[in-house]
Amino acid sequence: MDGTKVPSKPVVYIGSQELAKISSLLPSNQRRSVIVHSLINSLGLMSNSTGESKRRLRVVTPQRATRKDLAVYHTEDYLDMVLTPLENTTPSISADADFGLEDDCPLFAGLSEYVELVAGATLTAARALQQDLTDISICWDGGRHHARKSQASGFCYVADCILAILALKKPLQAPLPGGAPRSQSHQRPRVMYLDLDLHFSDAVSEAFYSPRASVTSQILTLSIHHSSPGFYPASELGKVSDAESDDFDPFTLSIPLLQGASAVTYANIWPIVERIKDVFKPSYTIVQCGTDALAGDPCATFNWSLGNVDGSMGWCIRQIMQWPGKKLLLGGGGYNSPNTARAWAYLTSIALDDPLDLSMEIPDHVGFPLYAPSFTLDVPAGNMIDQNYEDYLTKIHANFEGVITALENKFNY
Ligand SMILES: [Zn+2]
Repeated sequence: MDGTKVPSKPVVYIGSQELAKISSLLPSNQRRSVIVHSLINSLGLMSNSTGESKRRLRVVTPQRATRKDLAVYHTEDYLDMVLTPLENTTPSISADADFGLEDDCPLFAGLSEYVELVAGATLTAARALQQDLTDISICWDGGRHHARKSQASGFCYVADCILAILALKKPLQAPLPGGAPRSQSHQRPRVMYLDLDLHFSDAVSEAFYSPRASVTSQILTLSIHHSSPGFYPASELGKVSDAESDDFDPFTLSIPLLQGASAVTYANIWPIVERIKDVFKPSYTIVQCGTDALAGDPCATFNWSLGNVDGSMGWCIRQIMQWPGKKLLLGGGGYNSPNTARAWAYLTSIALDDPLDLSMEIPDHVGFPLYAPSFTLDVPAGNMIDQNYEDYLTKIHANFEGVITALENKFNY
């Protein structure tokens, strides 16, 4: 049992050799999972159960999602397609295309295991929160925010974010372990999904989008991303939220940013995020921590930095860690694998309330050569100009005054 000096429960970290191996098969991110988990392990974050660290980390092996778990959102036809091992299928160009299994989402050997394990990993992380094993869960292999009910898209084959939201919104069937009373607010838990990936969270946002609904939603989605003509994904919902528009839903929110967004811009808009959280009062906050908005990503669209300064990715996660309620940190995009490993290692240390020093050298481990030329933990900003000028940010703030008023009105009856 915890002693009186260690009141916090361990942070749950979803990981296993099998998960890293299977997750590393993802065609868009080959080997990335192995690189991420190896760096986090080499930094000693998985074994800090003794010493002065304020929080402990408990590595939890993911349970595979069952077909029934997956069918909570995915269609039976789609599951027939992705859960059949590739060697047992007869390729059919039209059938594959119907399910999005072409171009950037090809069928690959191991896909069925990938789908079961990645969904299972995120659901294992969500259940750890629900069962009160922890108040912070981390699943860096999750965060596949473009996968739809019956369609793979944008390197995403399984809708683990949506499955986690659907699991967490359920009222608890049994009393909390230890006989703690269920609070009023947890009988209908509120789930806030905050997406920090460079790309709009189209599949998640659309799954819960309900314009003109009269009821107060248990789910709020907010995506901060890049949007411009021709930039993936095309979605009307990825435009800046506008309470004046006919199809406005105050629980489906979007803040698109222009080229070169840096920590300065994120710091500028962050008070909007805090106000939305204050009105919605989430029981659970799910954060999709895709790293493709960081400087050095091949997408080369934003110029976000990892650490220290106000508005950096690490700073944003530090703010979220202070929010009331439980948190689930998920992965997402990120095509510079060593930078993704740097970021998720640093965010793990923030979750442990013991942030690493970003100037520290990468420890010697199997992935060490990948971290050339700096061999340090930081992901600094580059030279790209931040085109989010004052007039653009002023428009976002003006729109969100209306958005937040509309959201407040949903709670005042
Ligand atoms: Zn992305």
